[in-house]
Amino acid sequence: MHQTFDVRTDRRLEVIDVTDRVQSALPSGYSGICTVFSRHTTTGVCINEAESRLLSDIEHLLGEAVADTGWEHDTLDNNADSHLRALLVGNGVSIPVVDGKLDLGRWQSVLLVECDGPRTRTVTVATP
Ligand code: ZN
Repeated sequence: MHQTFDVRTDRRLEVIDVTDRVQSALPSGYSGICTVFSRHTTTGVCINEAESRLLSDIEHLLGEAVADTGWEHDTLDNNADSHLRALLVGNGVSIPVVDGKLDLGRWQSVLLVECDGPRTRTVTVATP
């Protein structure tokens, strides 16, 4: 199974809870592993708590961890900081699925991390 969904982002650096979108993409009754994959070089996907202050903290952390300018790639399209922030997050996660439901821990959510928005992004949800 291979499905995609699109996410419209509103800000340059933004963390978005996509757990419900991932859940909706799963086949009913499926048990196994699903892979959630960002099809972009300036977004990331991770699992963490979707608490609004923490989402803001993640945005601040990534903003502080990588300098906005001064990178070699900036001479091409001026978004090296976006690539490097996405690199720190990683571009996919694997999640156990039991009977069609994401088997996440109580406080876990699937987060899409936009590092070069606003744009429309495509996320892949794949099962073997
Ligand atoms: Zn670039």
